[in-house]
Amino acid sequence: MAEDAHAGSDSRPTHSSERRCGTPSLFRYTWPGHDEAFVCVMHAGGLKRVADALGLHLQLVLLQGEQFENAPPCSQIVEKTR
Ligand SMILES: [Zn+2]
Repeated sequence: MAEDAHAGSDSRPTHSSERRCGTPSLFRYTWPGHDEAFVCVMHAGGLKRVADALGLHLQLVLLQGEQFENAPPCSQIVEKTR
């Protein structure tokens, strides 16, 4: 039985053409000039590659303890249905 963690993000419906990862986040990260976001271990690697390709410094911070438990799930878009 999964309990919803209320971490400040409500689950209002977004564009139904986008499917989000939803995997529990293991890192938080910030792009220069953007708000902090959360990402799972699988997508963290991809983000890092993108950042390297763009020459940006991506700061990935491992979530621990309460931070991990309270983090919203990974919001990376994994699929766009057409
Ligand atoms: Zn993910």
